[in-house]
Amino acid sequence: MSRFLNRQLQPMKAYTPGEQPSGRTFIKLNTNESPYPPSPAVIRAVNEALLNDLRLYSSLTGSPLREALAEQLGVEADQVVVANGSDEILALAMYAFGERGVTYPDVTYGFYQVWADFYGLKRRVVRLTGDFTIRPEDFHRNEAMVLLANPNAPTGIALELDALREIARKNPDHIVLIDEAYIAFGAESALPLIDEFENVLIVRTFSKSHALAGARLGYAVGNEALIRDLDKVRFSFHPYNVNALSAHLGAAAIADRAYYDDLSKKIIAARAYTMEALTGMGFEALDSSANFIFARHPMLYGDAYVQKLRERGILVRRFDGERIADFARITIGTISQMERVVSETRDILREENYL
Ligand SMILES: *Cc1c(COP(=O)(O)O)cnc(C)c1O
Repeated sequence: MSRFLNRQLQPMKAYTPGEQPSGRTFIKLNTNESPYPPSPAVIRAVNEALLNDLRLYSSLTGSPLREALAEQLGVEADQVVVANGSDEILALAMYAFGERGVTYPDVTYGFYQVWADFYGLKRRVVRLTGDFTIRPEDFHRNEAMVLLANPNAPTGIALELDALREIARKNPDHIVLIDEAYIAFGAESALPLIDEFENVLIVRTFSKSHALAGARLGYAVGNEALIRDLDKVRFSFHPYNVNALSAHLGAAAIADRAYYDDLSKKIIAARAYTMEALTGMGFEALDSSANFIFARHPMLYGDAYVQKLRERGILVRRFDGERIADFARITIGTISQMERVVSETRDILREENYL
C-alpha cells in the first residue's frame, strides 16, 4: 500500500475471487461457470461486420441486448438496464439506493459487504438460522436497503416467492434488491413483484446460466423510475459500460432460449446425481436450487477436502467463516466431471478410513 491511497480504502478488505488457474488444467468447479460453451448462435454472431463496428463507441443503452431482454421478459425496454456483469449492477444500485445503509444475511455473496465498505454504507448483517435458511421476518421493517441473493450463495437455498413478496411489502421505503444470479437452476423468479411493488429490483447475470462469464453481462429489471435512477449513476460513472461485442453476443444468446433451457436441465440432473452420491457417502449437503452444492463431511476438515481434490486435479471453493469453514462449494459441471468428483471423493474418504 502506498501512502497516497484514499484513507477510507486503507483498512478495507477487497473481494477475493475464486482462483483462475493458468498452466495445469483442472476440472474447474470453483467459480460457478458453465461447463458448456455458449450457444452455436452466439459463436456465429461473431463476424467481420461486428468486429469492424468496434471502431464506434458501444450503444449507450446496451442495444440490441436491452431490447432482446425486454421482449423475453415481457417488460418495456425502459424497465431494463444492462451492465458490465451483474457486479456492476450491484455497484450502481448500492450507490443509488444504499444511502441509509444495507442489510443482508451473514452467509451470502461476499461482494455485498465489500461494496458497503467501499461506499462507506452502514451495514446490518442478519444471521441465518441454524440450518442456513433465511428467516423472512428478520428482513421485515428495516431501516436500510435489502440485499437478498435468491437462491442464496453459497448455500444454494431458495426463498419462496410469498416470503419475498412479504419482505417487499414490509419495506415500502427501501429498495429490496433480489439477486437472481442462479435463478435458471430451479427457484421461482421474483420478477412478477416488479409490477406489484415500486421498491423491487431484480438483478440477473449471463455469467452462470448463459455460459458467458467472460463477456461480462448483467442486468436489472424494475419500474421505469428505478431504472432511470440507475442510469443516472451509470451516466455519472461509465456510460459505455457494456462493450458492443458483448451486447451482440448477449442478444444472440437470448434468442436461443431452447439451448439454454437444455443446459439448465443438464445441470439440474447432474446436481441431483452429485447430491445423492455425496449424501450417500455421509456428506451433509444443503438443498440447492443453484448450479453448485454446498456440502461438508462430518469427519473431514473443509480445507483438507478442498486441498485433496486439488491434488487430484479438481478445483472447488471454500470460504472462511465461523459456520461455513468446513463446507466445500462444488460447482456443478458435466455429468462426467461430477462422476470424477464422486470417485475422487470416495478415494479420499477411503484413504482416511472414513468409508
Ligand atoms: C456470480 C454472482 C454475481 C456476479 O456475476 P457477474 O455477472 O459475473 O458479475 C452476482 N451475484 C451473485 C450471487 C453471484 O453468485
